Amino acid sequence: MGDGGWGMRKHTIHLGELALTTLMDGYFRLDGGAMFGVVPKPLWEKRAPADERNRIILGMRPLLVTGLRLMLIDAGAGGKMDAKSVDIYALDRTRNLTHSLADSGHGVEDIEIVLASHLHFDHVGGFTTRDPSGEIRPTFPNARYVVRTEEWEDATHPHERNRASYLQDDFVPLKAAGVLDLVDGDAEIMPGVRVRWTGGHARSHQVVMIESGGRTAVFVADMMPTTAHIDEPWIMGYDLYPMETLAFKRAFVREAIDNEYLIFFEHDPRIAAGYIREKDRRKYVEPVLFDS
Ligand SMILES: [Zn+2]
Repeated sequence: MGDGGWGMRKHTIHLGELALTTLMDGYFRLDGGAMFGVVPKPLWEKRAPADERNRIILGMRPLLVTGLRLMLIDAGAGGKMDAKSVDIYALDRTRNLTHSLADSGHGVEDIEIVLASHLHFDHVGGFTTRDPSGEIRPTFPNARYVVRTEEWEDATHPHERNRASYLQDDFVPLKAAGVLDLVDGDAEIMPGVRVRWTGGHARSHQVVMIESGGRTAVFVADMMPTTAHIDEPWIMGYDLYPMETLAFKRAFVREAIDNEYLIFFEHDPRIAAGYIREKDRRKYVEPVLFDS
């Protein structure tokens, strides 16, 4: 498939006044059955082959938005995970956020706003860092961290079904450090960047709408984690409210096709961003940015 004139290793797209740079915090693996919910394995394994432990490979791709401020959306799993979890999730951070941020010409001290799609560990583990003394502190020393109020409530009051996803060390230290900003509703976070509620994956999961120069890009987080998830019934078993995911996705994919949204797929192992197209009633993704 053509790359639309973009270089295969290009990581930045200009959208009006904004620059969008796809970053990388490495790879991990999750159970393939859980990643595709009701879809039978003979179908999903054609799109995402399983390893000997039935796991499929996923990327972790935070997005850097350069606008009025320098903003990071999500931050991958980070480096706090213990050996047992590293094994369970096959966490591979050989190339991680520190490297890809450096390649973009920035250090952790440059980030001014850190925005969370939601507070699951594979999205916000990198929000905090354990220093050599064992203390956990904000990774981005000059940033305000922006979290949706209801998501903060859920993450800090987990139940049996979501407890393994909400690791308190990823976000509670932000409050202690006084760098947390809780935001209600579908707010504008900086000019051109606003959050939009989806529910589905978690009660207060949100995507990020990025608009400038008459064009729109969307960071869809776990609403559609990979390009294999654009079809309506391909919904994660992890989702707490799958019928919400279905309803949002059905409307959103139509909207994305009609308006040529550039979609950033946070967990796709290969395609960082692309356009959803439709031909003969079949939907597919035309890749624009690969790897990272
Ligand atoms: Zn995720």
